[in-house]
Amino acid sequence: FYATSIKKEKSRFSRHGFLFVFRDRTEEQKMDQVKDELVSTVSHELRTPLSSILGFMELLRYRQPTPEKTKRYIQIVHDEAKRLTTLLNDFLDIQRMEGGKQEYAFKPFSLRQLLLETIEHFSETAETHTIHVHLNDDPLLIFADEDKVKQVIINLLSNAIKYSPSSDHIDVRLEQSADQAILTVRDYGLGIPQNAFDKLFTKFYRVDNSDVRKIGGTGLGLAICKEIIESHGGAISVESELNHGSTFTIVLELDPRKDFEK
Ligand code: ADP
Repeated sequence: FYATSIKKEKSRFSRHGFLFVFRDRTEEQKMDQVKDELVSTVSHELRTPLSSILGFMELLRYRQPTPEKTKRYIQIVHDEAKRLTTLLNDFLDIQRMEGGKQEYAFKPFSLRQLLLETIEHFSETAETHTIHVHLNDDPLLIFADEDKVKQVIINLLSNAIKYSPSSDHIDVRLEQSADQAILTVRDYGLGIPQNAFDKLFTKFYRVDNSDVRKIGGTGLGLAICKEIIESHGGAISVESELNHGSTFTIVLELDPRKDFEK
């Protein structure tokens, strides 16, 4: 298309000299950069679980390990395969969000109930940390996409555990303030340097220090959380002190309609 239009223009203007065609490439360059980051993150993050799965499968196939070891290896293969599924889902989510194609299924539900169910389910796999829950009996009814809010809660809980390797518990608090529900997830781990706060919720961003590098990740989880929460008219924020832990807070409007009960 460009070639033909330039040719036409050339013939029209040929008697007067040159025609320069400028095209704004900023958007294209931004997309190229996103793609490059995606490819390098995908290849890096897929490699570790895949080689672990292949390695343990080889052991199972050729080494005839004891029943105890067999059980452990199968558990590792299972966990790594689950990690791959989460990675893939994060990549798909980010791509959908980039293209404005993310759809939300809003309905009324109790945030209290969702939080308790999610934590109960999550605690079964979180062996290293105990989750302390602080809440009262208020159901805190919101009008939102239940699966997506659950995804945000799981992301925050996973990060709290992942980034606090030398502590053994996290605190989750659910409160009401005026017409808002306020959910906080507090850990006592690595913490986050202040100069990282404003980049923390952008895609692919990871704090650049050796502790964080040792722990795998894509830098997509918090970007997905922000997108989901803001699409619900809510807000997500962080407070943290390096080496003392972090608190992530999400605020969501309560459902203003009083005519339903769960
Ligand atoms: P990922 O964990 O896959 O790297 P996230 O988007 O969830 O991606 O988080 C982005 C970055 O924010 C992490 O790489 C880490 O540096 C920092 N971070 C997130 N949650 C915590 C936390 N609870 N404690 C310390 N650092 C955190």
